[in-house]
Amino acid sequence: MFCQIAAGTVPASKVFEDDQVVAFSDLRPVAPTHILVVPRRHVPSLAEAAEEDWPDIVRALQVARQLGREGGLSDGYRLVQNVGPDGGQTVGHLHWHLLGGRSMTWPPG
Ligand code: 5GP
Repeated sequence: MFCQIAAGTVPASKVFEDDQVVAFSDLRPVAPTHILVVPRRHVPSLAEAAEEDWPDIVRALQVARQLGREGGLSDGYRLVQNVGPDGGQTVGHLHWHLLGGRSMTWPPG
């Protein structure tokens, strides 16, 4: 699904894209800002990332920070990556949730 969004064949509300990373609004937001930051390269999860995937992972983190800055989240934000079933991952394509616009609680559920 996220490969199709990256390719533009499935619509999404994109807020950023370059040759390595796309970012778009989550379909079911859980915070006022809820953006998914997604490397274009198909990697099922962080647990399955290979050596050659790290440049895209680093780029995704740079993009997340940039979107946090540009999105007015100067009071902070949360960057979440769910890994595997116990981590709560439901989409098998590496991604980060950029959550902001409200105070977060700890621990997460
Ligand atoms: P995960 O549960 O894998 O950490 O996160 C997957 C996220 O993708 C969920 O927050 C879910 O709402 C979002 N999502 C699932 N399908 C779509 C879709 O087709 N479009 C968009 N924009 N978000 C999606």
